[in-house]
Amino acid sequence: MPPTAKETKANKASTAKKATKTTKVAKKAGNPAEFSNFEPYKPKRGEKYMNEAQHAHFRAILRNWKSDLMQEVDRTVSHMKDEAANFPDPADRATQEEEFSLELRTRDRERKLIKKIDSTMELIDQNDYGYCEACGVEIGIQRLEARPTATQCIDCKTLAEIKERQEMG
Ligand SMILES: [Zn+2]
Repeated sequence: MPPTAKETKANKASTAKKATKTTKVAKKAGNPAEFSNFEPYKPKRGEKYMNEAQHAHFRAILRNWKSDLMQEVDRTVSHMKDEAANFPDPADRATQEEEFSLELRTRDRERKLIKKIDSTMELIDQNDYGYCEACGVEIGIQRLEARPTATQCIDCKTLAEIKERQEMG
């Protein structure tokens, strides 16, 4: 699929004249938990954080990522339908069951991620996107491009992870 098309359009809409440069962050498809294919956003000098153009940029990233994930979910389902054979050999059956349960877990993860993406898009709609939910600072464009669903700044996130580790012993 050509994920760049939509993006490019969204970017063009916001920053009319940067068509020449296409930095490919593309990781070859395969791991839909990683989104890919977008041009890093280049804010103009003095540009307001999370203005319309930036919102459009992240909406496009999230939209593409979501549609990749949904395709992946579909693919898993149809794969399982195709493969659902009745093996007479219990060992074969066991292998297949194992495979399926792995796929189901993957799909479950993908579904959760899709939900997270949806709620992130709502944040954009409500104009709350891009700010740390813990301390309120700007999360920053670069961090959001690396993790578009991030809801905490790197400091709060790191702190939360340290605490988590301590609690686990
Ligand atoms: Zn924070």
